[in-house]
Amino acid sequence: MMEMVFRKIEYAIEGDAPDQRALNASPWNGQKFFKKFLKHAIFFGVSFLVGNVLLSYIIGWRELYQIITDPPAKHFVGLGFMVAFSLLFYGIFARFREQACTFICPYGRHQSVLVDENTIVVAYDHKRGEQRGPLRHTQKFGERRDAGHGDCVDCNLCVAVCPTGIDIRNGVQMECVQCTACIDACDQVMDKIGSPRGLIRYASLNGIERREPLRFTPRLAGYCVVMAVLGAILVVMLFTRSDVEATVLRAPGSLFQQMPDGHFSNLYTVRVVNKTSREMPVELKLESPAGSLAVMGQGSISVAPQKHSESSVLIELEPSAMKSGTTPLVIGVYSGGKKVETLKTKFIGPRN
Ligand code: SF4
Ligand code: SF4
Repeated sequence: MMEMVFRKIEYAIEGDAPDQRALNASPWNGQKFFKKFLKHAIFFGVSFLVGNVLLSYIIGWRELYQIITDPPAKHFVGLGFMVAFSLLFYGIFARFREQACTFICPYGRHQSVLVDENTIVVAYDHKRGEQRGPLRHTQKFGERRDAGHGDCVDCNLCVAVCPTGIDIRNGVQMECVQCTACIDACDQVMDKIGSPRGLIRYASLNGIERREPLRFTPRLAGYCVVMAVLGAILVVMLFTRSDVEATVLRAPGSLFQQMPDGHFSNLYTVRVVNKTSREMPVELKLESPAGSLAVMGQGSISVAPQKHSESSVLIELEPSAMKSGTTPLVIGVYSGGKKVETLKTKFIGPRN
């Protein structure tokens, strides 16, 4: 997003890096104001789109569409999140940029734990590059080597293009986001001075120092196992994901009641979430102990696609089926004749 969207917009409006520095240093005038306003207005617009996409991941696109189309007074919380996400992305892309990679994103911190001398990373070939030093106009490249110099002409281009401002020649650093901008910049320099590309390249420390090819190390095997286990867990969770999620709670503040026929009753609230994209009729059955279960009001439950419904449910037990104090209850949740979930709760009754 930074390189392919926001920086492209910035370059189109403000020019390349020297032009941008000149614009920032110039006094405020109509042209500077127009360029800055246009850039930040477009940045905020794109951030708004990115924020909305994130919000639709969390609440679903239908909810998001409702927030956008309903009167604002109906969705203060949703609108608040919409503004907060837009400001968050605007702040990251317009101001914090790679600082977010360095200080907020855990990726860099993970790297310092995960990499070792066999890990392939963006690396400077110090064996080939050192002793660094500028290339004099009168000096042929071969003469440099004879004079003990390496291929690095110390042009600092790799540092200038680095979005996090580090010098890759100092070794692997946590701030490196592996964007490879320094590889491209250095390759251009190598082309100009007639030296092979790849002074900065994807390589491991052992690859550079001992010319060792990539080896399948125990650490690599460990990472493969961890990735395979995580992948397997994800697949199992995807395939065993239920279409329906149901919870049962005793109705707040209610106690048991004794009916005229001597039966006891408890009132519950059953919440059913329909995760599918089709209407789902749901049936509740009291499976243990023997008794009766009635859905209050509408008499049955039908949940709209990707919505939830809450129903009051009255359960009645005969005194002979009850234990002293509390009796465990098992409620089956059925849809289309198939059991989709089992709920467990307690039935409150008098103590003997
Ligand atoms: S771009 Fe290449 S040659 Fe220039 S300073 Fe960096 S490593 Fe050395
Ligand atoms: S790959 Fe190179 S340019 Fe990119 S962050 Fe790392 S050191 Fe900087």
